[in-house]
Amino acid sequence: MKNFFIYTFGCKVNQYETQLIREQFIQNGYTYVNFIEEADLVIINSCTVTDQSDRQCNSLISKLLSKNIKIILTGCYAKISNKKILKEFPSVTVIQKNDLLKNITQTIKSFDNHSRAFIKIQDGCNSFCSYCIVPYARNIMWSKPIQDIINEISFLLDNGYTEIVLTGIHLGKYETGIANLLKQIFSVINKDFRIRLSSIEMNEIDNNLIELMKNEPLRLCNHLHISLQSGSDNVLKQMNRKYTVDDFHKTLNNLKNNVKDIALTTDIICGFPNETENDFNDTYKFLNENKFSRLHVFPYSNRKGTKAYEMKQITDQSEINQRVSKLLELDKILRNEFYSKFIGNTRKAVALRGNQALTDNYLTIKNIRHQKGIFDVVIN
Ligand code: SF4
Repeated sequence: MKNFFIYTFGCKVNQYETQLIREQFIQNGYTYVNFIEEADLVIINSCTVTDQSDRQCNSLISKLLSKNIKIILTGCYAKISNKKILKEFPSVTVIQKNDLLKNITQTIKSFDNHSRAFIKIQDGCNSFCSYCIVPYARNIMWSKPIQDIINEISFLLDNGYTEIVLTGIHLGKYETGIANLLKQIFSVINKDFRIRLSSIEMNEIDNNLIELMKNEPLRLCNHLHISLQSGSDNVLKQMNRKYTVDDFHKTLNNLKNNVKDIALTTDIICGFPNETENDFNDTYKFLNENKFSRLHVFPYSNRKGTKAYEMKQITDQSEINQRVSKLLELDKILRNEFYSKFIGNTRKAVALRGNQALTDNYLTIKNIRHQKGIFDVVIN
């Protein structure tokens, strides 16, 4: 019983930790299989950001148990809902992530099935946005030592990766500040590579980082994912987000004025308990006027244990679904507008799976003949 498979839910940090777990089990003599049906043991690396991720995890567990497959459950859902899971699925082995990962080197040797390598450099969040369960699942603030990051990047570059995506639960909380870390990396690693930041909070974007993006266009991708969540100050206040709509607007302008062709992507929650129709219209207007290049749109998910869970929901689900559809429509328009600006341009890209490539400013280009490393593509 040595064939194992890992099923991963959730964020880039979870995907990175899955690679750590995979390398550890292989080192302990297990064989990784690429199809869940071939496995004797399935490790589920769970997520609990939405109630949908909990439900999907439960249905996967039920399916696997019906085939008598042994299950190890780890991750944020296992952390938050441990008792409930063991009551519902007594034959599942729940191992908390920290226990599964302790005593193993927190660096990966490859990033299987990916052309770009994600590196986890930070863990934990203590911001307690009122809708978010993450600070309860990942409450230990941690930063990876710089030398470990540099060694890990160098190893992955020697293994053929060219784009490194730095990721964390709250990346901007990296102990030295992101800009200082990047400067150190760029000062010691002199190879053909580039770094992309997975996400950063608006109030962690300082002039240091903007200067670096301006001065390192080939090594630091001109793309930032900055979660807005709502375009209404009334809602942001109830979300316990630490900025106003106007602050956000100023930062976007500062970035656009200083970083050429920058891609700005964001997350939006639709249907937060106190969101009125006017609040939603303000959000729509803000997104459209500030010309984001992509929107990630999420219907509000009520998470037990968060402050927002106690708030009265003033909007019914069908209206929330309509707001989500409106923003998904807007997302299509904004993506096309951003893409069209670069048609005919040549940009630096890395290969993605299938005949696709990803440019520095986060454009996905189709029908591309693959090349190694960072190569030029003409936007068609
Ligand atoms: S910053 Fe807010 S939304 Fe992000 S992980 Fe922390 S609490 Fe959650």
